[in-house]
Amino acid sequence: MRFDNSYARLPERMFARQDPVPVASPGLIALNTALAAEMGLESAAMSSPQGIAILAGNRIPDGAAPLAQAYAGHQFGNWVPRLGDGRAVLLGEHIAPDGRRWDIQLKGSGRTPFSRMGDGRAWMGPVLREYIVSEAMHALGVPTTRALAAVTTGEPVYREGAMPGAVLTRVASSHLRVGTFQFFAARQDIEALRLLTDMAIARHYPAAEGPLGLLHAVTQAQADLVAQWMALGFIHGVMNTDNAHVGGLTIDCGPCAFMDAYHPDRVFSSIDQTGRYAYGNQPQIAVWNVAQLASCLLPLIDADEGAAVEAATAAVHAYTGHYQRAWLARFRAKLGLVSGRDGDQMLVETLLDRMARQGADFTRTFRGLAEGGATSEFSDPEALTTWQADWQARLSAEGRTLAEARAIMRTVNPAVIPRNHRIEAAIAAAVAGDHTPFHRLNTVLATPFDADPDEPLREGPAPAEIVHRTFC
Ligand code: AMP
Ligand code: MG
Ligand code: MG
Repeated sequence: MRFDNSYARLPERMFARQDPVPVASPGLIALNTALAAEMGLESAAMSSPQGIAILAGNRIPDGAAPLAQAYAGHQFGNWVPRLGDGRAVLLGEHIAPDGRRWDIQLKGSGRTPFSRMGDGRAWMGPVLREYIVSEAMHALGVPTTRALAAVTTGEPVYREGAMPGAVLTRVASSHLRVGTFQFFAARQDIEALRLLTDMAIARHYPAAEGPLGLLHAVTQAQADLVAQWMALGFIHGVMNTDNAHVGGLTIDCGPCAFMDAYHPDRVFSSIDQTGRYAYGNQPQIAVWNVAQLASCLLPLIDADEGAAVEAATAAVHAYTGHYQRAWLARFRAKLGLVSGRDGDQMLVETLLDRMARQGADFTRTFRGLAEGGATSEFSDPEALTTWQADWQARLSAEGRTLAEARAIMRTVNPAVIPRNHRIEAAIAAAVAGDHTPFHRLNTVLATPFDADPDEPLREGPAPAEIVHRTFC
């Protein structure tokens, strides 16, 4: 690893220096060799005992400057002034041969000054879920943190019972969250806010200028991100401001889930008791989070207070337009439509409405439309066939044949997604010592748009397999 630790050079009050806490007996579950290659890291070295020791936190690589980042956040709407990395450390920032900067973070690496009552650890379940989902997201073309490796610790972690401990090596272009800005805004630490603003621009939006430029860029990025989630039937589950990435990445997939049967009110997270983060609420929550960032940036905007508020408000209000455009573009593409026409929104909404009433599987319906048939997803096939007549009329108005449209559709409607029941089964097998289903899932999910028609991972859950609740 070739480190250049810009975060560790920030003022000491912005983080806590913290080494990972060593574990009893590290063992490699997975190393993402394709990602390692992209980062210019040698897979052979990383899967050697010395490499595994680094991934487990037992050895600090040369040039690292491990630290826990400070952040605050609104958790389910409630302000928490001090959160921070309570079970993760940033080892440092690795510069890849192509010049890209990668935060290398160990998650589940032991207690830090931000741990509060927590043990600083993670068990294998959430580590494997985040590994599977973040890599699937990447393969689906969605901005996300990545999973470089997962290791076992040889130590138990106590949750509902004793579970096998694990550490995820998470890598990302940064770990800057809305909550990072909130931590310093709440302390009226203008210097820290300026430094974070400069860092966020340098890392994510080099063309943006100043705090307002950053706010505009984040607003757009969050709108694009959530539109992508919506177009995949993805529910993040914990869209707290500390999990809202300033670079517009998907981060902290804890109790996240891809829907099987479509319904806008769908919620999986066991901790989301009011459905605040339900599928259909995600677009509003994202802009609420952006508004929290806006209020943090206000003191940095070079204008009198009234003008600053006005400019920041305008930036946040631009979200709705960005989001609606992004959403419609994604769903048009899902239906094989390239140009935009009046009535497209209604066409999409009618389909979604019928899917919800009929309990149609989100992924299989769109993929089915791309491959030749989705009627089997509908309890009343006529609900689809009547809609399909309108859709085909719309396609021919665009001058595209059904076959041409379907070719486009197969590039945006995945055949496989990480379904809950498959993730749960992979975790259960891994806990029992068999990592095969986990690896198989990752392999198939690496090419989600061109899976074999007979691939069993394309199937939805049998009634007894349906997962109703996810836990982090
Ligand atoms: P998350 O739910 O992963 O977004 O985490 C929310 C906050 O709780 C963050 O500050 C985490 O670092 C902290 N946290 C979550 N789990 C633990 C744990 N097992 N030990 C210490 N801190 C934790
Ligand atoms: Mg410090
Ligand atoms: Mg988090």
